[in-house]
Amino acid sequence: MITAHCIGDEAVRNALDGGVDVIEHGYAIKEDTRKRLVDCNALVVSTISQLHFHLQAADAYCYPDWERKAFERHIVAMRSDFEKNLVAGVRYALGTDLIGYPTHPQDRAAMEFELAVEWGMGRSDALVAGTKVSAEALGMENLIGTIEVSKLADIIAVQGDPYNDITALQRVQFVMQGGDVIVHKLDSGRLNS
Ligand SMILES: [Zn+2]
Repeated sequence: MITAHCIGDEAVRNALDGGVDVIEHGYAIKEDTRKRLVDCNALVVSTISQLHFHLQAADAYCYPDWERKAFERHIVAMRSDFEKNLVAGVRYALGTDLIGYPTHPQDRAAMEFELAVEWGMGRSDALVAGTKVSAEALGMENLIGTIEVSKLADIIAVQGDPYNDITALQRVQFVMQGGDVIVHKLDSGRLNS
């Protein structure tokens, strides 16, 4: 699986010319490039939360005016392409591009689901894009991404039903990694390890 970090039409076209499978970011593109993404079944990694948290940090970290304006411009282009891509049938994996505190909090990564839904992705589509399809983007679909016999038991439990309220994914109560319980905040004693 080959991935490339691309923003802008020429970058995405060059990556597709080179046979890249997964486009990170992938916004600010033209219509014929959008069609190519669909035709070659490429994956685009959403990375909405990266710009979301960047803008949120602008006041606290005194970003210069040119930088705020650049991020605002980027988020407008990203949203417009996200909406058009959904209609066109471009395949998305949900990913964040969060590089860590203070401006890119990695423990807020589940926000990506909420932002994708806010921008028009269906809740169940978002769940699939952030699990099954993301595993595919990593070339790890044989190990993770779905709960199936022969895969690693990487499982979370959340408070609430993400099919009704996607923000439930931000309230993780239980984490199992490779069959080992890592986090366990459930009230019920049934899952005590
Ligand atoms: Zn990036």
